[in-house]
Amino acid sequence: MRTATYPDDAPIGDAYLTHEAVRAVLERQDNRCAGCSAALDAGSTYFDLRRPAICGGSHTLGNLEALCPSCHRNHMHRIRELFADPVAHRNK
Ligand SMILES: [Zn+2]
Repeated sequence: MRTATYPDDAPIGDAYLTHEAVRAVLERQDNRCAGCSAALDAGSTYFDLRRPAICGGSHTLGNLEALCPSCHRNHMHRIRELFADPVAHRNK
């Protein structure tokens, strides 16, 4: 689901997410986790860049996703693996 008000390439600012960006992502995902579709709880929702900035990902709404704590951990784990052994990852 996309909203015309928040194009995917809209910048979301630097370190902190605006309330509008958070709401736009949650609306787009229907308040569900981008990883496992579990309903998200406002107190334990993580906002991650799908493609991390360190990998060239942009700080935009389209690159942002809301994750539950468990998917957030997996996401971080994947990124760490990617950096620990980029060659092994590429050969998969
Ligand atoms: Zn999840």
